[in-house]
Amino acid sequence: MDFRLSEEQQMLKDMTRKIAENEFGPRAAEIDEKEEFSWENKQVLEENGLLGVQVPEEYGGAGAGMVSLAIVIEEVARVCAATSAILTTQALATDPFIIAGSHEQKLKWLKPMAEGAVIGACAITEPGAGSDVTGIRTTAKAKDGGYVIDGSKIFITNGSVSDTIVVVAYTDKEKKHKGISLFVVTKDTPGFSVGKKEKKLGIRSSDTSELVFENCFVPEENLLGNLGEGFKVLMKVFNYTRPGIGAQAVGIGQGALDTVVSYCKERVQFGKSLAEFQGLQWMMAEMALQIEMARTMVYRVCSTIDDEPDSRDIPRLASMAKWYASDAAMQITTDAVQILGGYGFVREYPVERMMRDAKITQIYEGTNQIQRIIVANSLLK
Ligand SMILES: Cc1cc2nc3c(=O)[nH]c(=O)nc-3n(C[C@H](O)[C@H](O)[C@H](O)COP(=O)(O)OP(=O)(O)OC[C@H]3O[C@@H](n4cnc5c(N)ncnc54)[C@H](O)[C@@H]3O)c2cc1C
Repeated sequence: MDFRLSEEQQMLKDMTRKIAENEFGPRAAEIDEKEEFSWENKQVLEENGLLGVQVPEEYGGAGAGMVSLAIVIEEVARVCAATSAILTTQALATDPFIIAGSHEQKLKWLKPMAEGAVIGACAITEPGAGSDVTGIRTTAKAKDGGYVIDGSKIFITNGSVSDTIVVVAYTDKEKKHKGISLFVVTKDTPGFSVGKKEKKLGIRSSDTSELVFENCFVPEENLLGNLGEGFKVLMKVFNYTRPGIGAQAVGIGQGALDTVVSYCKERVQFGKSLAEFQGLQWMMAEMALQIEMARTMVYRVCSTIDDEPDSRDIPRLASMAKWYASDAAMQITTDAVQILGGYGFVREYPVERMMRDAKITQIYEGTNQIQRIIVANSLLK
C-alpha cells in the first residue's frame, strides 16, 4: 500500500474540492433549511462523472476504485454531507450489481446508475428490522415466471428520488439468513409506492423515505444474485460501503476543523485572537489528529478492497474505519460548536449543521455497536 495519493487521485481530489466549494457549499445551508433533495446537486455529480466512481468502466463507471470513491465522498461531505449521501447511497445500490449481477443485469440497471442518469437506492430496513436484517418481514413469492413482493421498508435513502431499488426480501423464511434474496424494483412497477418522507435531525436535504410493496410483481430476471444468497451478498456490500461512510465522516470533521481554524484567526477576545489561546490550540490539534487517524484507516481499507477484494481483513478494517471515523466526526463537530461559542450554536456558521450531520454516520450502515460486534467476532473466531 502506498500512503501517497497517485497523481490521478490528487487531481480528482482537487477537482472535487473545487466543484464542492463552488457548487455545493453555497447551497448547503439553504437545502438543509428547506429539507429538500437537491436535483441541482445531483445534476452536478452526474455531469462530472461522480456517481459511478468505483464502478468498472465496462458498465459506465470511472473504474477508479474505492480509494478514489473515498476521496470524492470526503470532499463533498466537507461542505455538504447531505449531498455526499447521494454518493454513499449510489455505492450501496451499485455494489450489489458489481458483486452479484449478471452481465445483462449490469448493462440494464448498473450502467445507467454508474453514468449518473439514474439514482439508486438499497432497501433493507423495516419497522421491525434494523440492526438485525433477519428480522425483515418483506417476502417475495415465486409466481408466473417471477416473484410477488409484499412488505414495507423504512428510512430508505433516495427512496423517493430513485428509479432503481435493490430490495431485500425473504424467499424462504424457514431458512433464516439463507432464505433472503435480492430483487431489483424500478419505480414504475405496479404495486410499488413511496410512503412517508422522514423529517430528520441531520442530512436534512437527503431523501429518507418509506417504500411500500403490495402485490408487486417482478420478472425472474429481476432476481439479483442467486436465490437465498442475498444476505451473503449484502454483508459483502457493507464491507465495501462502510469505508464510504467513514470517508463521509472524515469530510464532515475536516469541514468543521477548517471552519474552526479560520474563525479562531479572526475572532478577538481579551485583546487576542482565539488562535492564541493554548486551550483552543490543543483542541484543534486533537481534531487534526483524529482526522488524520480516521483518514488513514479509511484509505487503508479502501486500498485493501482495491488491491485484494477478497481479503479476510476487509470486514474488520471496514468496521473499524467506519466506527472510528464517525465517532471522531461527532467529537470534532461538537468541539467545533464549542470553539465558535454562541456563533457555533446559530445557523450563521455551518458547524451546528455539521454536528447534526455527523450523528447519522454513527448510526447507518450498521450502528457503531454493530461494528464492535463485527470486530469482536473477528478476534474470537
Ligand atoms: C437518515 C437515515 C438513512 C438511512 N438509510 C438507509 C438506507 O438507505 N437503506 C436501509 O436499508 N436502511 C437505511 N437506514 C436505516 C439504518 O441503517 C438503521 O436505522 C440502522 O441500521 C439501525 O437500525 P434501527 O434504527 O432499527 O435500530 P435498532 O437495530 O433497533 O437499534 C437500536 C439500538 O440498539 C443497538 N443494538 C441493536 N442490536 C444490538 C446488539 N446486538 N448489541 C448491542 N446493541 C445493539 C443499536 O446500536 C442502537 O443503538 C437509514 C437510517 C437513517 C436514520
